[in-house]
Amino acid sequence: MKRRSGINMSDVKISNRAMILNQVKGSPKSRKDIAEKLNLTPAAITMLVNELIEQGCVRESGHVDEPVRVGRKKVFIELNKDYRYVIGVNIEGKHVNIGIGNLQYEVMASISESISGLSPEQVVKMIVRQINRLLHENHIELSQCLGIGVGIVGKVDTKKGISKHAYGIWDVEVPIADMLEKAFDMPVLVENNVRALALAEMELTMHRKISNLVFMKLGPGIGSAVIIDNEIYTGAHSDAGEIGHMMIDLDGRQCQCGLVGCLETVASITCLIEDIKQDFTNEAYPILSKLMNEDIDLLNEGLIIEAYLAGDQKVVDKTDAMLVYLSVGIINSIKFYDPHKLVLYSEMFNEPILYKKLLTEIAKHQIEESLESLIESSNLIAPKCVGGVVLSAKKLFFSKGAMVAE
Ligand SMILES: [Zn+2]
Repeated sequence: MKRRSGINMSDVKISNRAMILNQVKGSPKSRKDIAEKLNLTPAAITMLVNELIEQGCVRESGHVDEPVRVGRKKVFIELNKDYRYVIGVNIEGKHVNIGIGNLQYEVMASISESISGLSPEQVVKMIVRQINRLLHENHIELSQCLGIGVGIVGKVDTKKGISKHAYGIWDVEVPIADMLEKAFDMPVLVENNVRALALAEMELTMHRKISNLVFMKLGPGIGSAVIIDNEIYTGAHSDAGEIGHMMIDLDGRQCQCGLVGCLETVASITCLIEDIKQDFTNEAYPILSKLMNEDIDLLNEGLIIEAYLAGDQKVVDKTDAMLVYLSVGIINSIKFYDPHKLVLYSEMFNEPILYKKLLTEIAKHQIEESLESLIESSNLIAPKCVGGVVLSAKKLFFSKGAMVAE
């Protein structure tokens, strides 16, 4: 059962309201500025803004002195970020991260739980329990929430809200949207976790002003998303933008996707860890072995970065070899999509020395042009559920021109 809105509006009006909300969601604007930006008459803007004010989703804010005429005040229109809330969920690795966000995409409260050894039904039950707990603790009623956005690894059927195959979590189809809608009677959107995070990157960082973005998440594997004209580009079979699965080493290793020598098999953290494990001895890796107390099972990305910076020679060699492949993958992606920016979301490239090394590697392949200016390390700082928060606020509030149930 879906709640229905009592508001009945034409598509044009909804689209105009959506454009006004998009104008004020970053920072307050005057009616005059909005009218100029949207190419609508001041009278039309006044009418639409007044409706939104009456509804409560925007309001007049801080009167600022108009510099031209002394004594005249300029009224700004700002988003009422607490008009409604959304719930974000991120299912990735061995954890689920659940949070409540406002319409400014701020995660107000969040919680992480282990999902190791749990069945899909148990995971969903736990998500339901934790959402109820977060709402209760933050004194938010279910009726104040617009819906739930779920980001999950692997293949997703966004239309039906189904996780098709979440690598490493479950290998069966799980109708997440149906299961959560039964519990909460509100819309549930399901999206690949990297795609949801890419939307957050677009909305929450300085990339707000751009419309084409390639987003690469270097975790254990290589996740990626492509945004074209402000929308996630999915392709005909929802498989577009899989940069980690471009074939790059024809004599290479078998990839989990079925192809051979994918970028992920030569340039991911998982493959770097496997490479080190293959010839690891305490003598060959003196610094790294000390960092993990000679226990190879403790090997992880953070320790590899530490050993790299401390100059453990074999770690440096293997990481540099990985960066060569990664630079090729990045150059190919830029050539293919021609984005305003390619953003790297990773622990590794938060480290300036490694980031610089990657850019130097990329520069080696260029003759005249400079691709480095197109590449950036993400500065998105928020719990991972922010992907679901942005996804649901965007689709259930902004794109609908705030046409929501009263
Ligand atoms: Zn592959």
